[in-house]
Amino acid sequence: MILKKSKIKKTVLVAGGAGFLGSHLCSALLEAGHNVVCVDNLHTGRKINIKPFLKNPRFIFKVHDVVKPLNLKVSEIYHLASPASPPHYQKNPLATFQANVWGCWNLLELARKNQAKFLFASTSEIYGDPLVHPQTESYWGNVNTIGIRSCYDESKRAGETLCSDFRRMYGVEAKIIRIFNTYGPNMDPDDGRVVSNFIVQALQGKPITIYGKGQQTRSFQYVDDLISGIVKVMGKSNFYGPVNLGNPKEFTILQLANLVIKLTGSKSKIIFKDLPKDDPKQRRPNIALAQNNLGWSPKIQLHDGLAKTIAYFEGIVKMKS
Ligand code: NAD
Ligand code: UDP
Repeated sequence: MILKKSKIKKTVLVAGGAGFLGSHLCSALLEAGHNVVCVDNLHTGRKINIKPFLKNPRFIFKVHDVVKPLNLKVSEIYHLASPASPPHYQKNPLATFQANVWGCWNLLELARKNQAKFLFASTSEIYGDPLVHPQTESYWGNVNTIGIRSCYDESKRAGETLCSDFRRMYGVEAKIIRIFNTYGPNMDPDDGRVVSNFIVQALQGKPITIYGKGQQTRSFQYVDDLISGIVKVMGKSNFYGPVNLGNPKEFTILQLANLVIKLTGSKSKIIFKDLPKDDPKQRRPNIALAQNNLGWSPKIQLHDGLAKTIAYFEGIVKMKS
């Protein structure tokens, strides 16, 4: 249980609700007593993530692509509908761009029509390969506009612009969060991001694939910490961000690989592969803004979050074998 039962029952739209983060958000909102409408085109999301809610009368699921306008009566909108893993968002870069720009525009129009509050899931990727470390929200970033990651980074940046202009022009209460690498149960085993890759490889006794030398860093946040932060941002009056939501503890990818091997007791060997183009060298959030304004900071240490995530993937790997 992440959220307390709410006295006021709302109807909330979660776009991208069948994905990894979206399914946890739907679960938390339902537990708090709200009505949840989940829309998803199932591009990277999976019906199995929302299966536990399908019988709940307060949960509605619609297959819908947010690139097309939609008409609903809701009082809060969370826009999480975008592929998030580099291999997935690079597979169809134009669709990625559309989800974060056209999709964001459509959902902002819906917020405007309903006078609904709006929250956009932006990303630490907007900082690109950051030259300021740790990253504060006031840093404008170091982003390649024409590279293979640009469809994601630049569309998230454009989404942030849309949120800011809908707020200035129409008074839409549009909030922006910048999520740093988040992991946990409900990730797709074929997602391609580092935590799920390493755990699945370790559990299957396959080589652990480190891209580059493994000296690049990331800061890993467990999903429950993120969901509590997301909901705090939505609930906070006159607070629009952008705000970093991440765990400020920083690890090299080599450290992550060794920790996964240790926690799984795997005999997998580490192998080194080419580093993808434009792969950021370092990433760590400065979370002072969230701490001071929301009283939020992450609680779950990497080894504890990994243990829960490993338990989830053990179930899946067993089912598959
Ligand atoms: P995910 O791929 O598991 O979930 C994304 C969901 O959006 C999927 O269910 C997918 O089918 C759906 N979707 C994609 N395009 C859509 C469209 N056009 N219309 C409707 N649905 C669509 O990824 P996630 O990790 O759960 O990420 C959720 C959101 O959070 C994304 O916007 C992502 O950019 C953002 N984010 C995530 C992280 C992270 O570490 N998990 C970090 C930064 C930002
Ligand atoms: N990575 C890796 N092996 C993998 C998958 C990813 O070494 O099997 C690296 C990747 O090159 C990056 C880091 O792990 O440096 C985080 O990658 P991820 O795709 O999870 O997220 P990113 O932060 O790059 O968007």
